[in-house]
Amino acid sequence: MTRAELERLVEQAVREVLARMGGHDVDPARTGDGGAGQPRGERRILVAGNWKMNPCQPDLGSYLAALAGAPTREVDTLLLPPAVLISGLRRACDAAGLRHLEVGAQDLHPEKKGAHTGEHSGALLFDAGARHALVGHSERRQAGEGDLVVARKILAGWDAGLSVMLCVGESLGERKRGSTFRVLRQQLMLALSGTAISPPSGHRLSVAYEPVWAIGTGERATPAQIQEACAFIRQVLAETYDFHLARAIRVLYGGSVTPENALEVMSLPDVDGVLVGGASLSGRSFGDIVAAGAKAAAGRATARREGSP
Ligand code: PEP
Repeated sequence: MTRAELERLVEQAVREVLARMGGHDVDPARTGDGGAGQPRGERRILVAGNWKMNPCQPDLGSYLAALAGAPTREVDTLLLPPAVLISGLRRACDAAGLRHLEVGAQDLHPEKKGAHTGEHSGALLFDAGARHALVGHSERRQAGEGDLVVARKILAGWDAGLSVMLCVGESLGERKRGSTFRVLRQQLMLALSGTAISPPSGHRLSVAYEPVWAIGTGERATPAQIQEACAFIRQVLAETYDFHLARAIRVLYGGSVTPENALEVMSLPDVDGVLVGGASLSGRSFGDIVAAGAKAAAGRATARREGSP
């Protein structure tokens, strides 16, 4: 199938999804069906740091030295620097003996190449050393990125060999109006509408629940809000693909995560890690969040041995 045919199918699928949704709301009571309390299977905790447009400490070596003492092998650890730092960070990680630490991109262009000044294709990012890419971050959505573009970026990322982390989340107004579940369902269904043709393996897709009102504000969502939303996301994944794939896909939380609250967040049953902005800018505080992830992973392993979900 050609790329143009695939994109036509995505557009058609998006139109069908929109027609099916018909503006009707989701019953939040359904979120417990396959979400909350669902066994976590073998999903590894993922701790990801989004540096956004920050150079971090200009010396990558000292950032990594501060991180070196953290249990980065006990969880999956991912750093998302500005695109121009990807290859330097990859080299610095390798030099510091942190080959297992993964590097990713904060965005990618949906096209493979062409006249797109200032943009980066998945292939360019992969060649620079990225193995992951964020798509649909709320800061990009606020800059005008629509769901159809997000859908195309997911396919472009996979095409280039990248794993994709899809960001979804409601605004404060949407939460206050009681539309959180409707918004999450719409963002997920539209973004994933092109992927039903060839479903991902669990490690090629993760979803980050990032309530817009909690990003960079210091106002973290409550554990109940996070668990409910992440369980709901897994429920929508099960409807989109199937129960087994939904169990394999990691669902993360992002929004004002700090070393102080990270363990509580990652101990929630449907949360498989965190996407961290501000607190990832220091190697020490990111390392503390990795350590919290390792503790949560140990708790998860104990629960598995004891036979609880
Ligand atoms: C983010 O940028 O995705 C994020 C969650 O930022 P912060 O941790 O600073 O809220």
